[in-house]
Formats: sequence, C-alpha cells, structure tokens
Amino acid sequence: APAVLTTPLLRFLEETRTAFAPLDAGEVASYIPELGKADADHFGIAVATTDGHVYETGDTQIPFTIQSISKAVVFALALDLLGAEKVEATIGVEPSGEAFNSIRLRADNKPFNAMVNAGAIACCGLIADAAGDEAFELIRSTLGRFAGRALEVDDAVFQSERLTGDRNRAIAYLLRTYGGVRGDVDHVLDVYFRQCSLLVTARDLAVMGASFANHGVNPVTGETVVSNYAVARTLAVMSSSGMYDFAGEWIYRVGVPAKSGVGGGILAALPSQLGLGIFSPRLDVHGNSVRGIRTCEAISEAFDLHMLSRQ
Ligand code: GLN
Repeated sequence: APAVLTTPLLRFLEETRTAFAPLDAGEVASYIPELGKADADHFGIAVATTDGHVYETGDTQIPFTIQSISKAVVFALALDLLGAEKVEATIGVEPSGEAFNSIRLRADNKPFNAMVNAGAIACCGLIADAAGDEAFELIRSTLGRFAGRALEVDDAVFQSERLTGDRNRAIAYLLRTYGGVRGDVDHVLDVYFRQCSLLVTARDLAVMGASFANHGVNPVTGETVVSNYAVARTLAVMSSSGMYDFAGEWIYRVGVPAKSGVGGGILAALPSQLGLGIFSPRLDVHGNSVRGIRTCEAISEAFDLHMLSRQ
C-alpha cells in the first residue's frame, strides 16, 4: 500500500470532516417513513486499505440501513452464483440516466442495470430462483463476509419499506410480465426489502469497499468473498451507474467506482488501493449523500485517486 495512506490520511479525513460538517444542504429520505427518523447531523468517514488498515473519523460506528449499496454486492453474488450468461440475459449493464426508482425498462424490456431498483429486484429474483427460501440468508451472509462481521436487519425499516413499497411492487410485477422476475413476486420483494434494511456502519462500507478493491478478498479477514471476475464486472457497472443519474458527473469528478444508498451511505472502491465508506444522511435530489459526495471529491483530489489519472 502507498506510504501516503498513513497518518497524513487520518489527519486529512479529520480536517475534511470538520470542513464539511457545517454543510446542511439536502434532506433525509422520508419516502420510507422510518428513514425520516435518522439524525441528519451524523457524519462518519472511513477508509480501509487493501492491506487491511482502517482509518476512521466521526460517526463511523453508527448503524444505518445499507439500502441501494447492497445492490452492488448482490449483483456480484448473482454473477458468481448463476454465471454471467444467465445474469446478462435478465439484467442490462447500460446506464439508465433516470432516477433509481424509475419503472421504465429498456426497449427489450430488460432493466437497464443492477444498480437501480428494477435491476436489483430482478437480481433478487435470480437469486431467489437459485436459492429458494435460503435466498435472503445467502445475501445476508455474503454482505456480512464483505463487511467482515454478521449483519442484522433493521426490522422497523423493513416493515416501513414493505408498507410503502408499492412502486417497487409495481416494478416487480412489470418485470414478471416479461420474465424478468419469475415465481412468487412477494417472496422476491421480501428478499429485496430485507436486503435494503440490513444495518451497516461507515466502517463496514469502507471494509466492503476494500474487499472489492482487493479483487474479492476481504483484506481484514483474509476471506475470499466473490471472484475477481464478479468484482471487475460489478465495479464496471458501479462506474457507469452506481450513483444513478449523477453517475457521469461522479466518475468525471471523483473517478472512483461507487454506490450510494438512501440511508445516507456511499461505498467507493479503488482497485488495488482502498475502500471508502461515508455516512451522512442528508441527500440531494438524486438520492446521494450531499456531504458524502463532497468528501469523496476532496479525498480523491488530495490523494490523486482518480482512476483515469493513475499510471
Ligand atoms: N429500498 C430503497 C428503495 O427501494 C433503496 C433505494 C436507494 O437506496 N436508492 O427505494
């Protein structure tokens, strides 16, 4: 690992947190009512290197729901479990240029990609096809292996998502008319809502990011969590679509594959270098953490992390 990523890094993270803490633009997600209860001031920044060091400052131990960040890991899991051919037959890899919860499908009725709701629900469907009743436990344990610890569901958020999830229900039924979801729609949505309601911390996200950055081996536990093949394909889709309809701006400005969630988390992963985990619940209009974006831009610039500017 580069020598630059030691004490100066931690000092930089602390300074960045102090600089952006007063930023109170954006709103905590409230379309899932339970998420509206989050403390908007929480702000945690964590970096995990591919040699297993973790640097953290602020609210990095506060649990929050992973939401859409789970989609990246579950896509990688699907690639390994079912093989690329089956996954690609059901889910595209094109950016949608639309909001994460858009019901629009491609002209061939496939979801655009696995980083938006339609693709992620189809991905849950594939895993449910393969693993049946074990689907959620398989997803939970895979996410846990990425984080290096067992993860629990926030039951209040899960119930809240289920009660107010008609848009996702509509997407799932639409997918089923074209074979994008097969079988029991309620079961597939149950898996999806639970997956989104898993609790993580900013530190977990950094370690998960480092597991991606370390080509599928968790650098803290040493465990192989997914294949290098699945990592490369997932990071590719994260690069083009991980930040929804801000993905182009993001890869232009920050240059590090990333995934955000409406719980206020951002996971970023720079291959062979590090994982980043940010938690700050106020979101912009795209559903991305406002302070999270600013923080990642600052870290990328200070340490020259833009992947297209490195040798
Ligand atoms: N559970 C959320 C939903 O389906 C996830 C969305 C997100 O994090 N962008 O709407």
